[in-house]
Amino acid sequence: ALTAGIVGLPNVGKSTLFNAITKAGAESANYPFCTIDPNVGIVEVPDQRLNKLTELVQPKKTVPTAFEFTDIAGIVKGASKGEGLGNKFLSHIREVDAIVQVVRCFADDNITHVSGKVDPIDDIEVINLELILADLEAVDKRIARVGKMAKQKDKDSLAELAVLEMVKEALENNLPARTVELTDDQQRIVRQFHLLTSKPMLYVSNVGEDEIADPSGNEYVERVREFAAKDNAEVIVVCAKIEEEIAELDDEEKAMFLEELGIEESGLDQLIRATYNLLGLATYFTAGVQEVRAWTFRHGMKAPQCAGVIHTDFERGFIRAETVSYEDLVGTGSMSAAKEAGKVRLEGKEYIVKDGDVIHFRFNV
Ligand code: GDP
Repeated sequence: ALTAGIVGLPNVGKSTLFNAITKAGAESANYPFCTIDPNVGIVEVPDQRLNKLTELVQPKKTVPTAFEFTDIAGIVKGASKGEGLGNKFLSHIREVDAIVQVVRCFADDNITHVSGKVDPIDDIEVINLELILADLEAVDKRIARVGKMAKQKDKDSLAELAVLEMVKEALENNLPARTVELTDDQQRIVRQFHLLTSKPMLYVSNVGEDEIADPSGNEYVERVREFAAKDNAEVIVVCAKIEEEIAELDDEEKAMFLEELGIEESGLDQLIRATYNLLGLATYFTAGVQEVRAWTFRHGMKAPQCAGVIHTDFERGFIRAETVSYEDLVGTGSMSAAKEAGKVRLEGKEYIVKDGDVIHFRFNV
């Protein structure tokens, strides 16, 4: 399963946010593909379309799709020098598919800040520097190796060297590898390096309880946004403390509480959706009377691979995917009406599944 790693300096609200995730989170029993690990929180992906499909089909059961957050504790200055804990921190980051960095944007004199004052950009730079230095070391090593082959005019090595030099320049200017503009071929090359700063990054600005309804007055948030724009990263604003409280409520209470606060969607739900997009994930649905269910796939996956998300047998024996878009299904009102209107397509092996497709797979066992 894909996973997003949560990082941040001490006392920024990481544990509070992770608590909210595990409290609100799903039981791993429903999601057997997920890891059982105390540092992993499983979250269900909120999706209005699933509710609508449930209304239409009236199934016995509705199952949202889910993915994982991993709590990566223990950033220390000097991590990239490969000492003990620091080394472990970086190797954990290497394993995740996206990085969620919690940044302290709340002022609270009772809570010590590690460097003595609240300064989100300083904080971000402490963490990012370690990632950049680790990548720089990896890139330098690779340049030394590939450089020799490039001298003999080996075409692949020359192409790789060019990419390495571009990435190195960015890193030396304190910019993550993901800010380098590359062609598709070059992107394929850079992917092989498994760089930490190539991973998508989301900054979570953790603001105070009184600011969540209208964070526009919080100058720290503005500064994080400016920084993220240059950094090719996204930003969302949450109040971790409030999220921890919301996580204890049932759906009805939650709706009331959010209305009271004057916010439409909880920070946690925003975080889940933003991370889902960041990971390049999309959702297709199956809609039978037994079960209406959302399934996660990666953008660009073909029909048989998507069938394989349900079961490997579905992929192996794939014949066809009876497909209707969510809009067409809701527009016509039922599967049979959609069929009559000619909205249900029979898609084959090469079909690239789209977000919102409602699919019935036909397969040989
Ligand atoms: P971590 O070290 O990054 O895991 O930080 P914690 O989650 O343990 O939070 C550190 C302290 O900040 C705790 O006392 C939290 O209650 C407090 N805290 C976390 N989020 C907020 C917030 O949004 N507002 C305020 N006022 N305090 C917070």
